[in-house]
Amino acid sequence: MTDRASTGGLAISRGLRGCCPRCGEGRLFQGFLTIRKQCNCCGLDYGFADSGDGPAVFVILIGGGIVVFAALMTEVVYQPPYWLHAALWIPLIFLVTLAPLRLIKGVLIALQYHHRAAEGRLERRDDL
Ligand SMILES: [Zn+2]
Repeated sequence: MTDRASTGGLAISRGLRGCCPRCGEGRLFQGFLTIRKQCNCCGLDYGFADSGDGPAVFVILIGGGIVVFAALMTEVVYQPPYWLHAALWIPLIFLVTLAPLRLIKGVLIALQYHHRAAEGRLERRDDL
């Protein structure tokens, strides 16, 4: 067990698996997207974990791009009826948004831990 994941790749791997960013064995999530209070193996306090809107932004940009591009190409090439558009794209929207959301949230939290990212704060410097 290491205090910090030694490489960004290891942090990403732990995030994708939904594991603790420090030990890689405890679970990060309790439910679909809810973060546990602490690691059930090493006791790391997950209070630092705040991915904010980051996962949703990635999902919107990537998933939205995929669905809009596919819908536009289908319309240009085949001109299907609107009900077929709805039958195709509504399930695809759920697939490309819900499936990667947990993965992206896990990766962002693991990278937040790896890079010690936190909100900015003012520090008093006496040497100035
Ligand atoms: Zn842990």
